[in-house]
Formats: sequence, structure tokens, C-alpha cells
Amino acid sequence: MVRTDLSRDPVVFEELTCAFCSGRGRDPFDIMSSLSTCCVCGGSGKVLVKAPAVACAHCRGTGAVKTLTCTTCDGRGFVPQPLSPTVSCPLCKGSGDDASAPAMACLKCRGTGWMMEQFRKENRVHE
Ligand SMILES: [Zn+2]
Ligand SMILES: [Zn+2]
Ligand SMILES: [Zn+2]
Repeated sequence: MVRTDLSRDPVVFEELTCAFCSGRGRDPFDIMSSLSTCCVCGGSGKVLVKAPAVACAHCRGTGAVKTLTCTTCDGRGFVPQPLSPTVSCPLCKGSGDDASAPAMACLKCRGTGWMMEQFRKENRVHE
């Protein structure tokens, strides 16, 4: 008899303070008005990120790049960390920024600052 393992990798979410508005639930940059709701958390001041969550490298956990929501974490300030081993991104050295335009996310790691070890091995140039 084959047992199906239903308990494998349950998806758990962490409730975190919205980094973009610092939990205030309001537009932090007065783009519409200071009274408009935060576009990231919808005014709740809380965001859900798949656990384990780590601070986003591209926006330094602030959720914002200049006055725009960070494209890496969608303004949450945190990104879900993969369970497989990761290595620091060789292109941006872990900063998550594009070298030519720091406001843009690094193309190689999509702004996370790290990448799957597996992925790097597959793409490694022979030394
Ligand atoms: Zn918010
Ligand atoms: Zn970010
Ligand atoms: Zn990178």
C-alpha cells in the first residue's frame, strides 16, 4: 500500500508589518494624497509573506525604491526565502541592484541578492 504524504511542505505565511507604509496603512509618498490607502497592504498595515521571510535586498527591506514600490518584494519589504541552499548573486554581489541603474532590480537574481545554489551550478562556466 502506498501512502500519500499530505503533510509535505505546508505553505505557511508570516504576517509582517507593511514596510512600504511602516504599518500606517497610508500612502507614504502622498502620490495620490496623504489620506489614500497604501497600495501594498490596502490600508491594513500588514502583509502576508510566505515563510520563512527575509528582508528584501533590493529595497533594503523598506519596500520602496525611490518613491515606487519595489518590484522584487512588491513593496512588502520581505521576500520568501527558498528552502534550498542559496548563494550570493555573483552579478550584484548580493545588493539586488542592477549595476547600471541601481533603481532597477538585478536581472540575474531579480533583486533578491541571492540565487539557488543549484541554479548557479548549472550555469557555472568551467574553471
Ligand atoms: Zn502598507
Ligand atoms: Zn523590495
Ligand atoms: Zn543579483
